Amino acid sequence: APRPSQDLYELMEQVGRYYQAQLRHHADRQKVIDYLKGRGLSGEVVKKFRIGFAPDAWDGVLSQHRQSKDEQDKLVETGVLIQNDQGRRYDRFRDRLMFPIRDRRGRVIGFGGRVLGDGTPKYLNSPETPIFHKGQELYGLYELKQAIRDPQQVVVVEGYMDVVALAQYGIDYAVASLGTSTTAEQMQLLQRTASKVVCCYDGDRAGREAAWRAMETALPQLRPGDQLAFVFLPDGEDPDSFVRQQGKDAFEAELDKATPLHQFLFDTLAQSHRVEDGSLAKRALTLIETVKDSVLQETLLENLAYRLRLNSAAELKRKFGVSSRPS
Ligand code: ATP
Ligand code: MN
Ligand code: MN
Ligand code: MN
Repeated sequence: APRPSQDLYELMEQVGRYYQAQLRHHADRQKVIDYLKGRGLSGEVVKKFRIGFAPDAWDGVLSQHRQSKDEQDKLVETGVLIQNDQGRRYDRFRDRLMFPIRDRRGRVIGFGGRVLGDGTPKYLNSPETPIFHKGQELYGLYELKQAIRDPQQVVVVEGYMDVVALAQYGIDYAVASLGTSTTAEQMQLLQRTASKVVCCYDGDRAGREAAWRAMETALPQLRPGDQLAFVFLPDGEDPDSFVRQQGKDAFEAELDKATPLHQFLFDTLAQSHRVEDGSLAKRALTLIETVKDSVLQETLLENLAYRLRLNSAAELKRKFGVSSRPS
C-alpha cells in the first residue's frame, strides 16, 4: 500500500499543475503576465521554476476537488486549503503569483505566493506540514541540481525572486533559505552541495544581521576545505535588483571578491569591540571555540593572533587564558 504521504505529494503535484494552468488559461492571466514582464521574467524561466497563478477566488483549488472529501482533507493537511471553525474549506492562496517549492527529488512540497503588487502580506508561504519542513529545504536546490551536476559554489539568497532572476541571468547556482534565517540543517545541506558557499543577502540591516547569524550557524559544523564567504550588496539592493541593473558579470565579480568568513568575523567584531582591553580577542575566541574541527579552529586562531599582532595561536591562548578542547 502507498504510504499516506504519497497521496500528499501527488495532490501537491496536481495543485502545482493547476496554478501553472491558470497562468495559461485563466481570464485574469493578462495582469499576471504583465506583472512577470514588469519584473523582467522570461517565459523560459517561468517554465523552469514552474511558476503559476492562484486566481482571486475562495474556491480555485477547491473547485478541482469538489467530489472527494478525502482529497479535501489532504489538501487541508498540506495547507493548500484552510478549514475554518465552521468546517468550511477555502483556498489559502488567492490572487497570487505562485512559486512551487520542490524537495531534492523534485516533488512539490509547498508554495510561496506573492501578491501582484503592493498588498500585504507580500509573501504567503505554506505552513509546516507532514511533507514540508521549511528549515530543512532550500528553494531552488532541485533546479540547481538539474542544471549543474557538481557545482563549484552555491549562492544563498533571501527570496524566490532572487533565485529566479539570477537563473534568468545565467547564474543557475543560487538557492533561497525560504524567508527564515538560514538554519543549521540548511547550512549543512549547502556545505554538502558545494565546497564554496556564498551568502548574498539583501543590502539592508536585516540582510547584514542574517549574514552574521549564518556565520554563527556555520562555524560549529565547518570542516577544513569548506569555504564560506559573504557578499554585501549596496544599501537597498537585493540580488534580483542588482543583477538586473548590473548584469551577470558584475554579479559574478561580487562573488569573486566576496568577504571570507574570517575577515567578516574580525571586521564585524572590530566595529564594536576594542583590541586594547582584550574584549575583541575574548569575543572572537568564544566564537572560534564553537568550531568543532580542530584543524580549522587552529587556522582561525592563527588568523586572530596575526590580526592582534601576536606571534602565534599559542601566545594568544596564553595571553587570554583559554584552553582549546583536547583534540
Ligand atoms: P520582491 O522582490 O518580490 O519584493 P523579495 O524576495 O525581495 O521580494 P523580501 O522582502 O526581500 O522580498 O523578502 C525575502 C523573502 O522573505 C521572500 O522571498 C519571502 O520568502 C520571505 N518573506 C518576505 N515577506 C514575507 C512575509 N510577509 N511573510 C512570509 N515570508 C516573507
Ligand atoms: Mn529584505
Ligand atoms: Mn529582497
Ligand atoms: Mn526583491
